[in-house]
Amino acid sequence: MLLEGKRALVLGVANNKSIAYGIAKEFKENGAKLAFNFLGDALKKRVEPICEELDGDFIFQCDVSSDEEIAAAVKLVEEKWGGVDILVHSIGFADRKDLQGRFIETSRDGFKLAMDISAYSLTAVCGAFEHLLTDNASVITMSYYGSEKVITNYNVMGVAKAALEASVRYLAVDLGAKNIRINAISAGPIKTLAASGIGGFRKILNYIEENAPMQRNVTTQDVGKSALYLASDLSAGVTGEVLHVDCGYHTVGIGIRNEDKK
Ligand code: NAD
Repeated sequence: MLLEGKRALVLGVANNKSIAYGIAKEFKENGAKLAFNFLGDALKKRVEPICEELDGDFIFQCDVSSDEEIAAAVKLVEEKWGGVDILVHSIGFADRKDLQGRFIETSRDGFKLAMDISAYSLTAVCGAFEHLLTDNASVITMSYYGSEKVITNYNVMGVAKAALEASVRYLAVDLGAKNIRINAISAGPIKTLAASGIGGFRKILNYIEENAPMQRNVTTQDVGKSALYLASDLSAGVTGEVLHVDCGYHTVGIGIRNEDKK
């Protein structure tokens, strides 16, 4: 019960395959109170039963590309809870056409869209919720290794994730003065709705199974457990960090398996 009574605002559940769902489940099992956003009526129908299943307090519409919707969410959360102890930002988006082919062909609009929703929204949300974040609060966002190295087809999202990770470091300074921590989890690939937009995603999953030290892909539960660490006092003293939860894949340069060395 590492999060007993803590109020955790979870942004980014689309369905029970979402990374945010895996995180919320771990939080629930550790005593947290939950609230979720949704994006549009189609996802509302998916998030409602998840909120019920996890005994969440409330759900609300919030498109993070809209300052008005973020402001409305802040107002609602303030009325319902008065404060927030844990804020999870598990949101990303890029136009499907920018997640295949050549990065050099990314349009200005496609670039702006990916950066706005996948990177800037973290700063927007942190700024808007800052006054509700309690002493000792923890903010967690989701990144991917495509921020550090070229991953085929990840393209503009890799650039957005690099901006997201840099944002975490700058936000850590602003929020650290108030004893609020912020960290990113760089998760290995997981088959989710968002991931289905990335060209050749199945091949990436297979490649990780072949080449990651642990010879498997991560699960949303693996990510949830690391999020629990970052949300709880177990990580007191950790901020501005990018924690890789990827079965060790980021550590490998050329990783020939022991049995294949000769
Ligand atoms: P997902 O599709 O389940 O979740 C993405 C969420 O982003 C959805 O809930 C969607 O509604 C939300 N979203 C998109 N645009 C939004 C907007 N304008 N306003 C509010 N919400 C919006 O997929 P996921 O894989 O769980 O993605 C969650 C995060 O994890 C993303 O940042 C993604 O880049 C990151 N990530 C995913 C993987 C992976 O392989 N699945 C790996 C590393 C990091």
